[in-house]
Amino acid sequence: MTVTTRFAPSPTGTLHVGNVRTALHNWLWARKHGGRFLLRIDDTDLERSKEEYVDGIRADLAWLGLDVDGEERQSARFALYEAEFDRLKASARVYACYETPEELDIRRKVLLSRGLPPVYERKPADAPVPAGVAPHWRFKLDHDAPIEWADMVRGLQHFEPKNMSDPVVRRADGSWLYLLPSVIDDIAMGITHVVRGEDHVSNTAAQIQMFEALGAKPPAFAHEALLVGTEGKLSKRLGSLGMASLREDGIEPIALVALLARLGTSDPVEPVTSAAPLIESIDFARFGRAPARFDEGELALLNQKILHHTDYAAVAPRLPIAIDEARWNAIRPNLMTVAEAADWAAVFDGPFDPPAAADEDRPMLAAAAAAAPGIDWSADPWHALTDAVKEATGAKGRALFLPLRRALTGRDHGPDMGELLPLIAKDQVVLRLSA
Ligand code: GLU
Repeated sequence: MTVTTRFAPSPTGTLHVGNVRTALHNWLWARKHGGRFLLRIDDTDLERSKEEYVDGIRADLAWLGLDVDGEERQSARFALYEAEFDRLKASARVYACYETPEELDIRRKVLLSRGLPPVYERKPADAPVPAGVAPHWRFKLDHDAPIEWADMVRGLQHFEPKNMSDPVVRRADGSWLYLLPSVIDDIAMGITHVVRGEDHVSNTAAQIQMFEALGAKPPAFAHEALLVGTEGKLSKRLGSLGMASLREDGIEPIALVALLARLGTSDPVEPVTSAAPLIESIDFARFGRAPARFDEGELALLNQKILHHTDYAAVAPRLPIAIDEARWNAIRPNLMTVAEAADWAAVFDGPFDPPAAADEDRPMLAAAAAAAPGIDWSADPWHALTDAVKEATGAKGRALFLPLRRALTGRDHGPDMGELLPLIAKDQVVLRLSA
């Protein structure tokens, strides 16, 4: 059986880090097993679903490198749902209900006030049917079949259907709620593993009986703990943190993937430059039950670490022409984002105005300006330059290196000057030192 997973977003908004994490785990699992990863657009809610969000979801998955092996849309599958619904009607596993929301609400309150679970009470088969009212439909849980599954994250799960309400699967206007179409699709698409957030655990209990009522074996389930912000809560920021804003902040897709793949698991978050080790290591048994904390600071730091060993070829199309492979290798240990590489183009080739030097550094810089033209730039110019200045002025250590670094790069920190200097044009060096 080919391992088949699906990511099933509703196109009613843009993806945020929480649902991207679910998509990623589904993708990693499929790739680990040489299986298939499907995108299922859950657009049964025609009012709220928007085409621009569908496009956004596709674009975000592509940006993250989560390639899909197929795409389905629920809005194109209503005929199938209708046919399967008819089957359930014929076997009396769905039934018509006529209560208004107000009636249900009052009944719930009565039950609660008596200290009873607010479970939906089925009507006797011969209860009168109100005239002229279109029914909504519930799935009839089998009260005699306790529900159990071995969740890949949570371990053995047990539910007593007697304590559960028969879930509504279809509204009076004929529109579908999420539960049943999802099961029909999971069967039709051969889904072997459903990976989703733990907010779906009680849905799963009802859905397992739906799989069985439709004559199918339920897939395996992995319900992951939710993602929370640094404050330990489901933060608003997290719920709206989209790929566009991360991209704007210079976050590389692989950095987000590296973080989300391992966050909340017992495997360490590592600065990988490809998804291969993440595919290799994904194991739901190593996922924790506690909420996973997402920290934007940790993401920025991981992004930086990843850039430090990112090959030139991987970023070349996004770099200014001036930044060739040697220059990239020299500056990458000092970058927070790829975009910052552009700041270095002027350091290498000019135009560049060195900051005004302190008076006490001027004689030393003048000595450097005098020595530079005679230095062989193809050997080790930094060594030669500092030796010449040392000899001429007696300057050494920090008093020698820092003013030179400032004059040549405009910064107090940066790449090793021995590596950097041969990459800066010699006439530029002379110009800066004489300024
Ligand atoms: N559209 C559902 C959601 O976004 C899918 C849940 C599932 O994976 O089954 O919650």
